[in-house]
Amino acid sequence: MEVGLIGAAQIARKRAYCRYSGYAVGAALLDESERIHVGCNVENASYGATLCAERSALARLVSEGGRRVRAVAVATQDGAPPCGICLQSLLEFCPDPDQVPVYLVDASGKSRNLTLGSLVPYGFRGRTERA
Ligand code: ZN
Repeated sequence: MEVGLIGAAQIARKRAYCRYSGYAVGAALLDESERIHVGCNVENASYGATLCAERSALARLVSEGGRRVRAVAVATQDGAPPCGICLQSLLEFCPDPDQVPVYLVDASGKSRNLTLGSLVPYGFRGRTERA
């Protein structure tokens, strides 16, 4: 599954709409039903309206009925990790982030295997109830 997930992210990267940054990103997420959902970055002339590849894939996962992210692959030029907003967004669908592999693949195909928990060890989980 790891190879299929990475390949899906690499294909999605080719579809990136990144006319402003020139930095193409593809992401692929594995859900609880072993389905793969892909996304790419979608930039906008109003930069704040830009959508990252990871959140683009997450919107697809949720809209297609998924509720858990079991694995993540991100394809970029240099193997960079997801941004902070995307890490937070992924956490919402990963109750045990230490068990969620994140494969970061660069343009040469070289990949690093981390976990979501290692990338965001103190992620926000909502308001802490007070006694
Ligand atoms: Zn992002």
